[in-house]
Amino acid sequence: MIDIKRLSVIYPNGAKALDDINLTFSERSVTGIIGPNGAGKSTLMKSILNLVSHSGKITIDGEDATKELKQIAYVEQKSHVDYTFPITVRECVSLGVYPNLGLFRRPKAKDWKNVDEALDDVGLADFAGRQISELSGGQFQRILMARCLVQGAKYIFLDEPFVGIDSVSEAIIMRILKELKGNGKTVLIVHHDLSKVKAYFDNLVILNKELITIGKTTDVFTPENLVKAYGDNVVIQGGNKNDK
Ligand code: ADP
Ligand code: MG
Repeated sequence: MIDIKRLSVIYPNGAKALDDINLTFSERSVTGIIGPNGAGKSTLMKSILNLVSHSGKITIDGEDATKELKQIAYVEQKSHVDYTFPITVRECVSLGVYPNLGLFRRPKAKDWKNVDEALDDVGLADFAGRQISELSGGQFQRILMARCLVQGAKYIFLDEPFVGIDSVSEAIIMRILKELKGNGKTVLIVHHDLSKVKAYFDNLVILNKELITIGKTTDVFTPENLVKAYGDNVVIQGGNKNDK
């Protein structure tokens, strides 16, 4: 379980990104984190990962989060990932093995078997020898998903994984995430597209610097909560806030 108490983040330039957040992420679920641009969604993930300095207390399975970071597989917002790095698809997926290896150890036959199974699972076994720079955005995101599978972490954090990718890749990734949940994993996804929220997420965090609400999607994905986060102009599923 990930538990967050009194989390606040102020960036060095004085920008307040998160204000006194208290929440607990349920285990064995797929949780969406939504809110407008600049709401602090990425900052929330980065705080758990200790990538930004913050105040408050974050624990993972009762331990200080900084001691449990190996339990998290993280795919950052796509614009930040280096696409042009000269590395094959298979090598890229194998990077998921390294957090679990000792210093200077290399992946073994068993690890490579896991890599190849993960590639198969995301439908890209035939691409194993290609350079990652040759992949489409959706294929690359599937490769990052395969890397998460290989890592075997209990918690999986994805920051806007579906932006700019094709619908086949999106469906494959969502299928895998639901399978991971079935295998006892806990998935957090920063997400943009409100039309998919009900289909994708068991639980939802609605954020706009402050926590607007957290709960089951069926309970909290309401026009009232969306207006609190996005303002009056929020549009949901082609309708507006007055639609039932
Ligand atoms: P979101 O992911 O919801 O779009 P972010 O967490 O990226 O929001 O950013 C929240 C706020 O913090 C924004 O106002 C953003 O401009 C600011 N911010 C994010 N990263 C930095 C940074 N490294 N330095 C200064 N301000 C930042
Ligand atoms: Mg973001």
